[in-house]
Amino acid sequence: MVVERIILTVAILAGLYLFVQPVWFRLRRIHATTRGFRVDQIGRRIGRFISEVLLQDKIIVQRPFAGTMHALVFWGFLAFIPVTIDHFVRGYGGTFLGHGTLRFLVTSAVAVLAVAVIIGITGLALRRYIARPAALGAIKLESGVVAMFIEILMVTYLLDLYVFTDPTTAAARVNWWVHALTILAFMALIPRSKHLHLVLSPVTTFLKDLELAKISPLNFEKEEFGAVKLSDLSAHTALGAFTCVECGRCYDNCPARSTGKLLDPKKLMLDLRDGFLKDPSQLIVGQTIEEEILWQCTTCGACTYQCPVGIDQVVPILETRRGMTAEGKVPHTFNTFFGNLERLQNPWAYPTPQAHEFIEKNNYPKYDGHEWLYWMGCLARFDVQYQKVSLAFKQILDSAGVSYGVLPDEQCTGDAARRAGNEYLFTELANANIEMLKAAGVKRIVATCPHCVRTISEYKDFGLDADVQVIHHARLIDDLIATRKLSLDGRPAADKAAKVVYHDPCYLSRYGQPGDITKPRTILHQALGTSALEPERTREKSFCCGAGGAMIFAEETKGKRVNRERTEELLRTDANQIAVACPFCQIMVRDATNDLGRGDNVQVRDIAQFVADRMT
Ligand code: SF4
Ligand code: SF4
Repeated sequence: MVVERIILTVAILAGLYLFVQPVWFRLRRIHATTRGFRVDQIGRRIGRFISEVLLQDKIIVQRPFAGTMHALVFWGFLAFIPVTIDHFVRGYGGTFLGHGTLRFLVTSAVAVLAVAVIIGITGLALRRYIARPAALGAIKLESGVVAMFIEILMVTYLLDLYVFTDPTTAAARVNWWVHALTILAFMALIPRSKHLHLVLSPVTTFLKDLELAKISPLNFEKEEFGAVKLSDLSAHTALGAFTCVECGRCYDNCPARSTGKLLDPKKLMLDLRDGFLKDPSQLIVGQTIEEEILWQCTTCGACTYQCPVGIDQVVPILETRRGMTAEGKVPHTFNTFFGNLERLQNPWAYPTPQAHEFIEKNNYPKYDGHEWLYWMGCLARFDVQYQKVSLAFKQILDSAGVSYGVLPDEQCTGDAARRAGNEYLFTELANANIEMLKAAGVKRIVATCPHCVRTISEYKDFGLDADVQVIHHARLIDDLIATRKLSLDGRPAADKAAKVVYHDPCYLSRYGQPGDITKPRTILHQALGTSALEPERTREKSFCCGAGGAMIFAEETKGKRVNRERTEELLRTDANQIAVACPFCQIMVRDATNDLGRGDNVQVRDIAQFVADRMT
């Protein structure tokens, strides 16, 4: 008995060492990064932790079968903590759970979960080894070993509880030892495998920023210019790289990857992980990842939305773009729009007087303490096609008696500059706009462009008052209809032949506020008298139009064009009109309908135009 206890002690110490040593090594690699964690809005973070980690709701909703299997395994693991402690304490002749009702209740509940875990692991193993989805990548021995360990643990637990009830028998001792040694072997394997996510993912999810793709301002005075070395990336990126469970959801949903580009967000995270393990001072581009992938990301956020373990794959892309841009290494087409922004404060090179003329000619009120500032954005101010959307929105505002005005001297928000990595240029544009907004005393802003909404919201990190409200026009129109300030009743019914499909913009459906998915649909329903059609990938799972992340200014030479992929999907609904809620989407989808030879019979219009149609 004494010998047995000595062997057990040595085995426990060895198991702990083999677990702690690699975990500590990885923590030090995370600590080597210079941009630390941001821990704000604790209440919201706790709420997200409860729903995504403890209740596993995100993963179950997104993929009901695989998600439920994972959830069963996760809950089983949690339940196993007290009985595992008890198992080892029994090895020294004691008990952690006692001998009474508590033991009966806990062990019985865990027995039910053990059966659930067996079902869960078997289901996942069948998926991995029989169904073999491409996103999971090559079969690895490690995954099979882990599945086997878990099955052994569950079976030996049930045998211990219900079959070998006399602990003094040889069979019971052998079963006890198999269970104990499997736990210790599993512990040693965890930090060396993707199963480290069992330990890290609750922390990664808790520490993930509440805003998608949130990057911190750079302090140029402290010579911060963006990420060049791995250690320049944020601590959360390093933590995320070690947390990746290689599930491939980001791989499945990335528009760049799925249209044949080199970028694969799963590979990106695994390459970063390998780089951090090797040397955090190594270069990101060249030594860790290929440059080409950086300039293929539309920042659509599909990867981040899908990731079950709290990784934000967009942040390292944006941080590295800043490093590359600071070194002047950007695609040549970006230099053109950077130059336009510097000279004319809009990326399309329109002369400012053109916007003034449009504003004067159409009698837009100048902002003067009105309730709302209508932030027009560059396309509404300059682009002849998109000006129709602006005029439709103006008609709605006027008809509903909304107190609003515009600032004719607004400059580009700097969205594309920031997403392209030109933080310096973005900061200049942001500062000029913030000064103008502050001087005008603006408190509420409405924009028809979700990219403007997002970017103006980011101004709060640059000095704009935190209480300034910034919303997308869908929210305001929805509110005007709900409060009956805008009534579509008694208006002529919509075109009966219209078959309208709605395309969710990424910057509304994934970056937006709660309600930004439903409100455009409600508005369309009001305007059409019926629900809009839904494409295959819709709402939070919407597929990008290909424009975001400054990609509208890039040359898309590799693979299929993203806008074509999306537009084909929209047209598969048999729609003859496509409703959008973003100027970039409108351009990209319209271009693709033209490329597909459908431009003459498929209209691409903003939700505001559908509402305005119903008013006239
Ligand atoms: S943000 Fe979109 S394009 Fe970029 S890596 Fe993620 S899924 Fe791919
Ligand atoms: S980054 Fe997230 S979504 Fe992508 S493979 Fe890893 S765990 Fe899965």
